Amino acid sequence: MPFSHHSHSGQFCQHATGMLEEIIQEAIKKKFIVYGLSEHCPRYRIEDLYPEESHLQPLDLSKTFEEFVKEARRLQEKYKSQITLLVGLESETITSSSTSEALDLIEKYSLDYVVGSVHHVHETPIDFDLEMFEIALSKSSSNKQRIENNPEENLFAEYFDSQYQMLQNIKPIIVGHFDVIRIYRPNFIFSDLIWKKVERNIDYVVNYGGLFEINSAGFKVGLPDAYPQRDILQVS
Ligand SMILES: [Zn+2]
Ligand SMILES: [Zn+2]
Repeated sequence: MPFSHHSHSGQFCQHATGMLEEIIQEAIKKKFIVYGLSEHCPRYRIEDLYPEESHLQPLDLSKTFEEFVKEARRLQEKYKSQITLLVGLESETITSSSTSEALDLIEKYSLDYVVGSVHHVHETPIDFDLEMFEIALSKSSSNKQRIENNPEENLFAEYFDSQYQMLQNIKPIIVGHFDVIRIYRPNFIFSDLIWKKVERNIDYVVNYGGLFEINSAGFKVGLPDAYPQRDILQVS
């Protein structure tokens, strides 16, 4: 496998492992040609910290991101004869200002690229654990604007609508784990309404020239395929 555009390190992310430099040395050993460093955008509200971050404050996340960029740029230079490293971020879509916060960071640090991802619906994480997914689902079922009395349908629709907004605002070169919303509902059958949203999002990305990552985290959570699942890969 010669390239990857999505990675996290234990040095700068609570849910990953390994020092950034060790990860890069391993990527070189495995003959990667291009390797993208894409730590998460900092989150700015205390309620958006994950349980594993309970000892931190939002300001700590901003400081950590700054340290990440500094270290990533140092390593980019140090290993440039062996590997092309890209320094970027993975976006968030928690509130209506999340995408502009990401754009501000991209400008502030002159980042090389973006992984555009959605991890929240109704300001609730959908891929962290089942408990939080169920909370997001319950918020979807009480969403009065929806006619359908089908929480899954609503949640999936809201996920792909949020993704569409993120795509329009950021136009990320890489779209992260396109259908991660399937994590705890692998057998949910997409209705025509959901397929229309999926196809709309795919068309949008294709039109501006973005790429869809193949994200092996899908295997880790027991899905039959990496993200996106093969029915989405087959959309033409
Ligand atoms: Zn990620
Ligand atoms: Zn992600």
